[in-house]
Amino acid sequence: MSDTQPQNAIIVGGGAAGLYCAFQLAKGGVAVTVFERNPLFGKKLRITGKGRCNMTNDCTPQEFLDNIYRGKKSLRSAIYGHTPQDVMAEFESIGVPVKVERGNRVFPMSENAHDVAARLENVCRRLGAELVSERVTEIILDDTGTAVGVVAAGTEHRAGAVVIATGGLSYPKTGSTGDGYRFAQRAGLAVTEKSPSLVPLLSDEPCCPALQGLSLKNVRLTVTDDEGREKYSGFGEMLFTDRGISGPLILTASAQLDFSAKACYNASIDLKPAVTEAELDARLLAMLASAQNKDVVNALHGLLPASLLPELLDKAGIDGRLKANSLTKDARKSIIRTLKGFSVAISGPAPIDEAVITRGGVDMSEISSSTMQSKKVPGLYFIGEVLDLDGKTGGFNLQIAWSTAFLAAKAVTASLLEIQ
Ligand SMILES: Cc1cc2nc3c(=O)[nH]c(=O)nc-3n(C[C@H](O)[C@H](O)[C@H](O)COP(=O)(O)OP(=O)(O)OC[C@H]3O[C@@H](n4cnc5c(N)ncnc54)[C@H](O)[C@@H]3O)c2cc1C
Repeated sequence: MSDTQPQNAIIVGGGAAGLYCAFQLAKGGVAVTVFERNPLFGKKLRITGKGRCNMTNDCTPQEFLDNIYRGKKSLRSAIYGHTPQDVMAEFESIGVPVKVERGNRVFPMSENAHDVAARLENVCRRLGAELVSERVTEIILDDTGTAVGVVAAGTEHRAGAVVIATGGLSYPKTGSTGDGYRFAQRAGLAVTEKSPSLVPLLSDEPCCPALQGLSLKNVRLTVTDDEGREKYSGFGEMLFTDRGISGPLILTASAQLDFSAKACYNASIDLKPAVTEAELDARLLAMLASAQNKDVVNALHGLLPASLLPELLDKAGIDGRLKANSLTKDARKSIIRTLKGFSVAISGPAPIDEAVITRGGVDMSEISSSTMQSKKVPGLYFIGEVLDLDGKTGGFNLQIAWSTAFLAAKAVTASLLEIQ
C-alpha cells in the first residue's frame, strides 16, 4: 500500500451485502462509508421472506453449494470462509435471535425482516460506519486503473477500496436498477446477460385467469421443452394468477428454464401425485355410480377444488353437463390423464421487476473468488446479487450476500490495514 492511499473503504449500496460488509469492516477497525440511494437502508431486505426474512439455510457448505444454480465454483471460498452457522452466530451477537424451520430455513425469532435490517444498520452506526443516503453515479479510477473513490451527489469521495453492492434488477422500487453493472462495464469488466430468475411464469391459457388465486398444495410439477425433454420436476405448492402460474414450485422451476433462445415450455401438473391411475379410476367409478343421474361436474364434486373441476373437464374434452351414467371408459381415461397431467403452456417469464433475483451479472471470471476483488481493477470489489451468482429459494441468496460480503471485508481489511 502506498503512503498516500487512503485507509478508508466506500461501499456502494446499503442492502443486505453492503450493510453486512460495512458491519464486518467497522468491526475490524476500518473506516467505512456506505452510500445508499434510498433514505431507508436495506429496503429489499425488509421485504424478504414475505416480510419474515429467510436469512439463510442451516446447512453445510457443501449442501449450500448443491443449492446454487450458477457460480458454485466461485462461491467455494466464500461459503467455507463464512458458513450459514457463522451468519446465524453473527446475527445472534447483534441481537437477532434466529430459529430454524422446515427445510433448514432460518428466520429471525421475531419473524420480522425489519429487525434484521434495523439491527444491521444500528450495529454499523454503533461501530462508527458512516451511512449516507446518496446515489453514487461514478466510480473513480486513477491513471493506473486503480479504483480510488466514487462520485455521489456531484462530490468526489476518495477511498482505499470501493465495494460495489448495488444488487440486481428485480424489484427496482427497492433501489436495485442495475447501476453496478454499468460501473463494472465502464471499468472494463464483462457482465453476463441478465434475465429474471425465481420468477412467476406467464401463460395465455384461459384457465389461468379463471383459476386466479387458487393455490394447490402437494402437487407434482413437470416442465418440458418443445421437444418433450424434461427440464424440471418437483413437488410442492403453486398458485394460478391472472397471467399464469406462480408460487414456490413455479419460482423454483423458473430458475431451470432458459427463455433467451425463445424456447417454449409446457407445465404439466399432477394434481393427485400420491394416487395411481388405477386407484383414481376406482374412485371415479365409485363417485359416478353414487350419482348416476347427476351431471358429471356435480357427480365429481369433492374430487378437486370447485373452481378447478370445470377447467379439468374442459381440458379433458368432457362436457360437464353429461349425465354421470353416460360417461364412457375413454372419457374416464381422459379425466384421469388430465388429473395426472393438467397442462399449462408457458409463454415466458414475468418481467424482471417481479423476479426474486436476477440471473447473470458481473462475470465471475473477472473476480478473484478468494477476495471478491476485480482481477483487472485493483481496489474494486463486488459482492451480493450484482455478481453472476444465484441460488434456490430457502435462504441461499441472502447467504450469497453475507458470505461474499464477509470475504470482501476480510480482504479489504487486510489490504487497508496491511494485515498479512
Ligand atoms: C420479494 C423478495 C423476497 C426475497 N426473499 C428472500 C428470502 O427470504 N431469502 C433469501 O435468501 N433471499 C430473498 N430474496 C433475494 C434477496 O433479497 C437478494 O438476494 C438480496 O437482497 C441481495 O442483496 P444485495 O445487497 O446484493 O442487493 P440489494 O438488497 O438489492 O441491495 C442493493 C442496494 O444498493 C442500492 N443501490 C443501487 N444502486 C446504487 C447507487 N448507484 N448508489 C447507492 N446505492 C445504490 C439499492 O438502493 C439497494 O438498497 C428476496 C428477493 C425479493 C425481491
